[in-house]
Amino acid sequence: MDLGIKGKRAWVMAASSGIGKAIAKELIKEGARVAISARNPETLQKTADEIGAELAIPANFLKPGGATAAGSEIVARWGGVDILVTNAGGPPKGGFLDIGTDGWQVGFQGLFLSAVEAMQVVLPGMKESKWGRVIYITSIAAKEPIGKLTVSNGIRAGILGLMKSVSHECASYGITFNSILPGYTATERLKELGVTNDEIARNVPAKRLAQPEEVGQLCAFLASDRAGYLNGQAIALDGGQTHGL
Ligand code: NAD
Repeated sequence: MDLGIKGKRAWVMAASSGIGKAIAKELIKEGARVAISARNPETLQKTADEIGAELAIPANFLKPGGATAAGSEIVARWGGVDILVTNAGGPPKGGFLDIGTDGWQVGFQGLFLSAVEAMQVVLPGMKESKWGRVIYITSIAAKEPIGKLTVSNGIRAGILGLMKSVSHECASYGITFNSILPGYTATERLKELGVTNDEIARNVPAKRLAQPEEVGQLCAFLASDRAGYLNGQAIALDGGQTHGL
């Protein structure tokens, strides 16, 4: 199936490893020109060389203005971005009583404001060209709270509100906004969270982890020309884990 994105300019945030890297790889496979960002310049360049990303623009999304600076550099080099994939490192772990205001600020900057900054940079160009795709990588926590991930539960749900608002505002410009909500996915973050095989067997009807490539494939479809009427949707990629609709 031709996804119709050959030559489209895609920026994938937080893409030196895991889910972001798999998405970048899939978009490159579909013929898109891809820019990737992440914090560590050496690791980022290594990933770019490995997968064939055209641009590797280092950025710290925990720093206010970090996404604005990276996005502006990409727009300056390319003249615009057609496909934006917002992604970020995981937020601080803990229950509500474990997390101080500082932890919430870190989570808000990393998960929410970095996406807002990136959208502010790329949306004017998408509006002008009357074509654009914005895909938010969040978590099933956006729909169903996960124990001891209070910051993630609170802020990722807010991303869905943001997505709905902008999808209403911008649909007539040919721009779509959708979210992917991964469940347990085989990456470094999962190791960091210490999720056990027992928990996976108990909670995931599919009885296995998602592979990052599966997130990449869904993201490439949402970025495609064929998905032009699919807008404002939150899609859980979770092996059947979430209970709600
Ligand atoms: P990962 O650790 O493999 O990748 C994280 C990426 O973010 C890396 O490229 C890293 O360099 C980059 N990064 C981290 N901090 C950064 C910063 N301050 N500025 C710029 N880049 C930064 O993890 P992953 O599993 O691919 O996670 C990606 C996102 O998906 C995270 O927000 C995570 O919480 C979420 N998520 C993961 C799972 C899972 O099971 N793996 C499930 C649901 C949601």
